[in-house]
Amino acid sequence: MREKIKKQILHNLLLEVSKRYDYVMAQNTRIFEETSYKAIHDELTGLYNRFYFIEQLKKAVAFAKRHDNYGAVIFIDLDNFKVINDTAGHKAGDTLLQLIAKKLRAILREEDLLARFGGDEFVILVDNIGEDQQRAVDILQKISDKLLASVSYGHIVDQKVYQITASIGIALFHDHAMDIDDILRYADSAMYEAKRKGKSRAIFFNPLIEEQLQRRFLMETSIRQGIEEEEFFLVYQPQVDGEGKVMGAEALIRWNNAERGVISPGEFIPFAEESRMIIPIGEWILHEACRTLRRWEEDPLLRGLKLSINCSAIEFMEPGFDQKVIQVVTAHGVSPKRLTFEITESLLMMHHTSLTSVMRRLNAFGISIALDDFGTGYSSLAYLKNFPIGTLKIDRSFIEDIFFDTSDQALVRAIISVAKDFGIEVVAEGVEKPEQETALREIGGKDLIVQGYLYGKPLPLPAFEEALFKESGSR
Ligand code: C2E
Ligand code: CA
Ligand code: CA
Repeated sequence: MREKIKKQILHNLLLEVSKRYDYVMAQNTRIFEETSYKAIHDELTGLYNRFYFIEQLKKAVAFAKRHDNYGAVIFIDLDNFKVINDTAGHKAGDTLLQLIAKKLRAILREEDLLARFGGDEFVILVDNIGEDQQRAVDILQKISDKLLASVSYGHIVDQKVYQITASIGIALFHDHAMDIDDILRYADSAMYEAKRKGKSRAIFFNPLIEEQLQRRFLMETSIRQGIEEEEFFLVYQPQVDGEGKVMGAEALIRWNNAERGVISPGEFIPFAEESRMIIPIGEWILHEACRTLRRWEEDPLLRGLKLSINCSAIEFMEPGFDQKVIQVVTAHGVSPKRLTFEITESLLMMHHTSLTSVMRRLNAFGISIALDDFGTGYSSLAYLKNFPIGTLKIDRSFIEDIFFDTSDQALVRAIISVAKDFGIEVVAEGVEKPEQETALREIGGKDLIVQGYLYGKPLPLPAFEEALFKESGSR
């Protein structure tokens, strides 16, 4: 009997122990599962995290290599998410991220891996998309169209509708040896390119983008240095009236770079415009031009000269441009009547509403406006009516063959005649040969102003002044 009870107790004990053991085991598994869940998931959205994504990307790249197959990484970055976060608060921002995560997940295939890298950055691994590159590109294009559409639908958070867009960068990988870091960097730089192109779009990585970005970055850095190190200078090209007298000059910028020597504006102005570095450069040009005008005032021979500077559209669009100009010119104490701003047609074509008033204010202050490279763009004579333009500069391409090309002759004749009716001055650019001059004088008479290598190449200030003195026989 006692044996029986003993056995029973032992049995119960064992049962208890094993129950406990099960419990502990279950507990351990749960903790284990929880921690492993946390290790590979993003807490906010429940999507996979960067760690897991990269592990899977490694496998996918190896698979693509073995099977001659295409795969891709799609980088999604929300546009201006920070604005929503700042204005609606972090909580609303978090909810919005959760909603977007769900929408993205819903349009992807089961096997596509969606992860959140943090912030407003989502990343998708699409693998096994076939052996044909064009087909892979088509598929990815479709996917990204869907992704863009699903993000740009309004999202409702706290009864408010939030409108947002995304920029997408896509990097393909295939059988060639590619580094995981490279693939991610490529997708990232394509996404950056999408932002730069105006956001709300998808762009495929292409090695040219990378090269361009690299070049642009280097250029911007060295322009910034160039401004600091005072490597920019102006050269002056004479403008000659009907009497053969130098009546003014156009100032053209040069950059004396420590490593590359003198660089022409055609090479760096586009970068300076893109990076908006043209704003400080343009300001420097205006100061320098004023200093030159001031200096010329001291000399009887130079006193009457006018000076033209080139302005980029970016500068003109900068709020407060006119006030800044008036302030600078006034501070230098030079007469604005001796200053001309050369602008190109592209600026007028922007149809910017404030543009006309900026031009009018500068004009009222005394600065004249010249329309540069006339004939190369849309060349509408209506500009003459709608904008306060004092001078037309006929582009070099019309002057080149003017001495034998009858259609160029007819065009230049027509331009000069219309300009005359409007009371607008005309400058013929790029005159290199005496026969061009002869033809131009025949067409335009004494009113036409000419500029070009025939009368002088652009020269640094001391050399320009020297040439004038020599010509006039003084000193
Ligand atoms: P642009 O305003 O049309 O300037 C005339 C260009 O033609 C200058 O080139 C000048 O050196 C060149 N040139 C003058 N005469 C002749 C000639 O007889 N034959 C030939 N073949 N060329 C002649 P540059 O200095 O290289 O400037 C190129 C362009 O860069 C300028 O075209 C202008 O659009 C821009 N640029 C120059 N300086 C500045 C500046 O200070 N600011 C801005 N925003 N743009 C500038
Ligand atoms: Ca010019
Ligand atoms: Ca020109």
